[in-house]
Amino acid sequence: MEILDRIYRIELGHSAGDAGSTEGGPSVSAFYVKGSESGLFIDAGFPDLARTQPILDYWRGPLGSYPTSWVLVSHRHYEHAGGVKILKEATGARIGVGRGDARAVEADVGEDTGVVDQALTGGEVFDLGGRRVRAVATPGHTAGTMCYLVEDEGILFTGDHIMGQGTVVVRSDEGGSMAQHVASLEMLLDMDVRTVISGHGPVMDDPMSQIPELVRHRREREAQILDMVREGTGGVDDLAGRIYGESSERRLWLARHQVVSHLKKLEEEGHVVAVEEGVTYRVA
Ligand SMILES: [Zn+2]
Repeated sequence: MEILDRIYRIELGHSAGDAGSTEGGPSVSAFYVKGSESGLFIDAGFPDLARTQPILDYWRGPLGSYPTSWVLVSHRHYEHAGGVKILKEATGARIGVGRGDARAVEADVGEDTGVVDQALTGGEVFDLGGRRVRAVATPGHTAGTMCYLVEDEGILFTGDHIMGQGTVVVRSDEGGSMAQHVASLEMLLDMDVRTVISGHGPVMDDPMSQIPELVRHRREREAQILDMVREGTGGVDDLAGRIYGESSERRLWLARHQVVSHLKKLEEEGHVVAVEEGVTYRVA
C-alpha cells in the first residue's frame, strides 16, 4: 500500500521471533520508493520464494514493473536481506549492502554468487528522477547496518536501527556494537529527519523527540548493569534473568546477547573486565 507520497509498504508477515528485537516476532516489511524515472526497494524480504513473492506480486501488479535500479538492504538479517537474489533476478536491480554486512549477505545467498553489486559506506546518493535517496551508515545493530534517507523530504528508512517497538538487540557475535549503536542514534539528531519508517514497526512521525529516549534507555540499562556487576552479579545468565526476566528460551538467548553487548561496551570503556569472555565479568 502507498503509505506516503509514492512510498509503498509491502507486508511480508511475521519472522520467527529473532527479528532483532527483545519483543520477538514483529511483522516484516519491504518498501518501494518511486521517482519520476526509476524506483528502488528498501530491503528484500525473506530468502524463500514463497515469502518474497508478495514483493514480486506488488512490483508486477500495482507498481506496473516500474524500472527499478536498486535494492538497498538495511542489514544482513535474513528477513531483510534474504530475498536479494530473487529480486535481482526478477527486476534487474543492483544490490547495495553496507560494507560491514556485505560478506555475510553473500555467504547467506551462497558463496561466489556475486549478488552484492556495491558495498556501501554511507554518503552514496541514488537519483530516481526528482527524488534522491542517500545511504547513511548507522553501524551497531550489525556492523553494516545502513539507513536510507529520502533527501529534502526527511524520510528515513531505519531497518532495525530504530524499530519503533521493542528494544533493538545488538549481537556482538555478529559484528554488532552497543557503543556504535548508541553513537549511530545520536548522529541522527544532527540530521533533518521528519519521519522514520522502520523495517518492522509503525511509521514514526516526530522521531526526533523519541531518539533521545532511546539513547537514555540504553544509558540507563548500561548503568543498571554496571551497578549489578559492582554488587557482585557478574554472570551473564544472572544479569539477563534479573534484567529481562524473559521466559522463553529464545528471548533469554537474545537477552544474553544484549547483556554481553552492554558489557563489551563497558569493557571497552574500562569499567569492567571479563573473567570469562561472554560469560562472567567483574568491575575493573
Ligand atoms: Zn536485524
